[in-house]
Amino acid sequence: MEVFVFPGQTLANKTKNPETFSGFFRIIGMKTYPIYESPMKERNEERFGLTSKSCVCCGRPTAEKLWIHATTDWVATDEPDQDKVENSQGAFPIGPECAKKFPKEFIFKSV
Ligand SMILES: [Zn+2]
Repeated sequence: MEVFVFPGQTLANKTKNPETFSGFFRIIGMKTYPIYESPMKERNEERFGLTSKSCVCCGRPTAEKLWIHATTDWVATDEPDQDKVENSQGAFPIGPECAKKFPKEFIFKSV
């Protein structure tokens, strides 16, 4: 049996659950977290306009310094590399207040 070991993955995990390794791009142990949505989101989007800088949670404009990585299931993932998440929907900006609603491993900073 050929063994691939991906970054962040141990051989022990692989041999324990070989059936979970069918997807080449699926990262084992990738965590997800529900995306918080503010009750003010719709009103903020009307007020400030929905742009590429709008906070994904509350619709307020952001400085585009903090990001979440969302999947097509509309959950946040702790895997920063979009190429490693087969159902990636890309990165979305999030404001500093809304970022506090997520565990820190789900928030990425622009470099
Ligand atoms: Zn926000």
